[in-house]
Amino acid sequence: MSLFVWYDLFLFLLLFALFAYMFATVRITNLRKAYFLFHFFMMLWPLCQFITDMTKDPQLQKLNVTLSFVSLSMLGSGWLMLTIFLTGYSGGLAKRTWILLVMPAVIAAVGVIINPFQLFVRPLEGGYIHRAYGPWFWVMIVILLGYFFASLTFLFWAVKNPKTLLTIKKQVKITLWGIFVLATFACSDLVLNVVLRKWLPIIPGLTSVGIFISALFFAYVIKKYNMFDLVSIAHEDVINTIPYGILVLDENGSIIEVNKALRWFMDLSLGDYFDMEKFLRSVRVDGSTSEFLDHYRHRRSTFSELEIIIERDELRHFILQASPIVDANRSQIGRILTFQDVSQERYLVQEMNRQNVILQKRNRSLDSIRNELYVANQKLKEMALKDSLTDCYNRHYLTEHLTHEVTANMRTGTPFSLILFDIDFFKTINDRYGHVIGDEVLYRTAQAVKQSIRNSDILARYGGEEFMLYLPDTDRRLAEELAEEVRLMVESNHIRVGQENEPVAITISMGILSIDEFRAESAADDLEDYLMGLLAQVDKALYQAKEKGRNRIEFADFQQAY
Ligand code: GH3
Ligand code: MG
Ligand code: MG
Repeated sequence: MSLFVWYDLFLFLLLFALFAYMFATVRITNLRKAYFLFHFFMMLWPLCQFITDMTKDPQLQKLNVTLSFVSLSMLGSGWLMLTIFLTGYSGGLAKRTWILLVMPAVIAAVGVIINPFQLFVRPLEGGYIHRAYGPWFWVMIVILLGYFFASLTFLFWAVKNPKTLLTIKKQVKITLWGIFVLATFACSDLVLNVVLRKWLPIIPGLTSVGIFISALFFAYVIKKYNMFDLVSIAHEDVINTIPYGILVLDENGSIIEVNKALRWFMDLSLGDYFDMEKFLRSVRVDGSTSEFLDHYRHRRSTFSELEIIIERDELRHFILQASPIVDANRSQIGRILTFQDVSQERYLVQEMNRQNVILQKRNRSLDSIRNELYVANQKLKEMALKDSLTDCYNRHYLTEHLTHEVTANMRTGTPFSLILFDIDFFKTINDRYGHVIGDEVLYRTAQAVKQSIRNSDILARYGGEEFMLYLPDTDRRLAEELAEEVRLMVESNHIRVGQENEPVAITISMGILSIDEFRAESAADDLEDYLMGLLAQVDKALYQAKEKGRNRIEFADFQQAY
């Protein structure tokens, strides 16, 4: 037995070591599992070659020859799949396409296993160390070459495609080298040890060396670029770091995936049946459960959602959303349930409502304070305008009012009158009854005058017991009438004072000034002077009334008013 036989064992051990190293150091994902399966087939070849050469039992030799060629057949489809994974096109392929892609390799392998009429291999010299290959061997080789060229074409296409990512291009280039090395060694093996078998001595381990070197290339790509399965790693990361709870169910409602956020508040295990109705019974629901369940049970194509409240240490609100997962034919193959924690938002809304109620209460009390203030302000305003003893307007208001009115009257040519009156012999009332009664008499007299004047007339206390009446839109004739009415009213107004209810009769003397017409020059330059002039004239008239015997009316000279 030649020493070369040990090469295969040695290469198998190297491949096994590489397998173990990769298994221990890279993160295991679905796609990497595919790589390990591929690697496993690669390891089988040298191991079976070694056993074939070591054993003398023809049956065991045949078993190992068969096994090594089955692994070689499967290696072809493994190449193609790895290529597809590597170039990032695996996501777009349906299950059926994958099965179709593996089919030729499976057919080749089945032919190798059955070896009908020794069409694949036949023993020479009573064993399989030396063997002759039949047409099925060549069929297998052609299928293998088919896979080889398909992978190669795909890889070249990926390198040339401007849409392929740069990092993927780098991986593909290294993989191309790996496949090139493997193909070179496998072809050399084929040519030297099969085709030229009769003329040349057998050189063992050629394909094994090729397999080992290409395995090194693949391992390098995986370790260096760590890109093999970046998307699925990213998916896993995203699913587990997202603050939403995520639950993926298959079409029968069994749990396929639960992310970390959901495990935090729900006890769920993969493979268990998720009973939505039971779950909803165990939580508080804000919304229509029946509507949600109807949607859920009838597998509607749109999503449905419901707010649920779970009590764990504290109340937490979640928006539960159920969305269907559909395949390429739009048929539902599962469901994804998401749980979005909206406790913070709900708490904020509740807090806002609470604050709103407080605010409304405060507003109401503010409103009543404002009303009280308004009333107080009105009172203050009145107090500023009115005389507190007689409740008539004060002199300050009268002056302001007159300034405004006289200007307007001048502009429109409206007549007006002023009456100044003074209580006769008031000193004697004070002297006889005292000041308090005097005040009372003053007040009652003012009230009596108010009753006999019109709403538009203004009564103001001008001095101690002197009052001024402003009569708007009133000419001399009307003013005289009104003045007479007032005079009579006061004269007949017997005020009862003191404990004895003694009636006090008083009279007033009046001076009247009426402006019936305005002359052009009456639009005096200095309104203040003009007003002073008017007041002086009316005062003069009052003085005359006193002079002429009191309890009477005197007119100011019209001409003198100017
Ligand atoms: P006549 O006007 O008829 O000439 O005589 P008279 O006694 O009324 O004289 P006069 O008008 O000059 O006197 C005003 C008096 O009115 C002086 C003052 O004692 C009194 N008086 C003025 N203001 C008040 C007041 O607010 N209350 C009281 N009780 N008396 C006042
Ligand atoms: Mg007087
Ligand atoms: Mg007086």
